[in-house]
Amino acid sequence: MTDAGLAVTALHSLLGDRILGPDSKSYDEHRRVWNAVHDRRPALIARCVNAVEVSSVLRYARSAGLAVTVRGGGHNVAGRAVSDASVMIDLSLMRGVSVDPSARSARAQGGCLLRDLDAATTPHGLACPAGVVSHTGLGGLALGGGYGWLARRWGLTCDHILAAEVVLADGSIVEATESAHSELLWALRGGGGNFGVVTRFTLRLRPVGPVVHRTGVYSMGDGVDALAAYREFAEQQSAELHTVGAFKIASEQDWIPAKLRGRPTLHLTAAWFGDPGDGDDAVRPLFDKFAPAGRLERVLSFSDLQALGDHSEPHGHRYFTKSCYLGEISPAVAEAMVRNAEEIRSPRSCVDFEYLGGAITDVPDEDSAFPWRAAPYMYTASAHWTDPNADDEEAAWSRRSIARLDKWHYGGSYVNYVQDQPSSGSIDIYGADRYRRLAEIKRRYDPDNLLRHNQNIAPERSLAEDQQIA
Ligand SMILES: Cc1cc2nc3c(=O)[nH]c(=O)nc-3n(C[C@H](O)[C@H](O)[C@H](O)COP(=O)(O)OP(=O)(O)OC[C@H]3O[C@@H](n4cnc5c(N)ncnc54)[C@H](O)[C@@H]3O)c2cc1C
Repeated sequence: MTDAGLAVTALHSLLGDRILGPDSKSYDEHRRVWNAVHDRRPALIARCVNAVEVSSVLRYARSAGLAVTVRGGGHNVAGRAVSDASVMIDLSLMRGVSVDPSARSARAQGGCLLRDLDAATTPHGLACPAGVVSHTGLGGLALGGGYGWLARRWGLTCDHILAAEVVLADGSIVEATESAHSELLWALRGGGGNFGVVTRFTLRLRPVGPVVHRTGVYSMGDGVDALAAYREFAEQQSAELHTVGAFKIASEQDWIPAKLRGRPTLHLTAAWFGDPGDGDDAVRPLFDKFAPAGRLERVLSFSDLQALGDHSEPHGHRYFTKSCYLGEISPAVAEAMVRNAEEIRSPRSCVDFEYLGGAITDVPDEDSAFPWRAAPYMYTASAHWTDPNADDEEAAWSRRSIARLDKWHYGGSYVNYVQDQPSSGSIDIYGADRYRRLAEIKRRYDPDNLLRHNQNIAPERSLAEDQQIA
């Protein structure tokens, strides 16, 4: 028997029916990811429960000459968790979290969803800053950066990675900390899933209490004026506030004026993370500047806030998301944003934007692989539909929306929102200096590029890439 043949036999005896091939009964169930656009068929799915099993799978894949993908939450819009003819390491059985309230830290396994982390931390009045939909995977989100409600107050998720247990491409298991494998830790803070399989994160936690949450809805006709009010407010707001906007079809809820329900609208939302008693005064100026047609006022627990967006992004629908950093929301940008929103095709699609800044920019630029900390705005055009026949038109709307704002792009892009960018696009995402450092680290930790079906940092640069970097 070949080495690979022996290794697969050993895998079967270690993982039993948690090794799935195309003939296995639950193969289709486990190869599926959140975005139904991606219908890929891995050679093998390994549903691991610990780092030792992950190590065995990596050793097998190397011996068999197969590339490896890692499934954290399976939420990546580009479907990076799964690839044809590769080995998928599925971490969805590794979702344990333990909290040390006195140290304000948590240990979370690599397959956790954000809701697993929140469920363990919020009873202690603590949270790790992370994304805004609770069924997103912690793994991909943290390794690529991690924007969310608490980012302006405390920074990105990747800024909260204190240490990580990583299974490297050669199967060895290491702990990356500030003193051991510190370059690897630097790369894990924003460099994506390029450097190994993270089986456990150690995360810094922050105090959280009730959140004062206010939303105003505007007609499309008021969109440009409301955006001007948003810009003026958001660019001055304290770091305890996070203010976001969305163009979307208004729901049928009572607080929305009847004439706007079911129609395209602009929603502005402010969330206050300081003393709840100060929340109203902090938020009021946003809506005083330009009064909304309807207003929703509530105080939410942190875990309720985290779950607010869950229902609007279900598994198994079709998605195409492009995003960009914007330098400004000037009147011309506002006009273009409204136009993009008017061209939305599917009633489920939406455009989101948010002013960043705050604690995101407090972290020195050289302290992590995460690039573009100073970008003022994030803008995202998310197409969401169900009919496979509409794939091309939906993606075209999202691409066109980002292209329309081209003149005002700040530069770079956020790796976790990247959709149809070639691997060579990683240089644009990270910038030449950062990319060079990441490529050095990749050469050390994954020289054969076993983990390559991601937004890839190539250990070997092609001539073209070298010329681009020079
Ligand atoms: C509905 C929705 C809401 C979102 N909201 C936000 C948001 O608020 N803020 C934000 O910043 N982003 C957000 N995102 C983007 C999100 O950060 C990315 O989609 C991210 O890739 C999701 O991680 P995952 O583990 O679920 O993905 P997966 O598809 O499982 O993996 C994505 C990539 O990460 C790698 N990876 C995952 N886990 C590990 C691991 N443990 N070790 C090594 N590599 C790993 C994978 O190999 C793959 O390359 C959102 C996405 C969706 C779909």
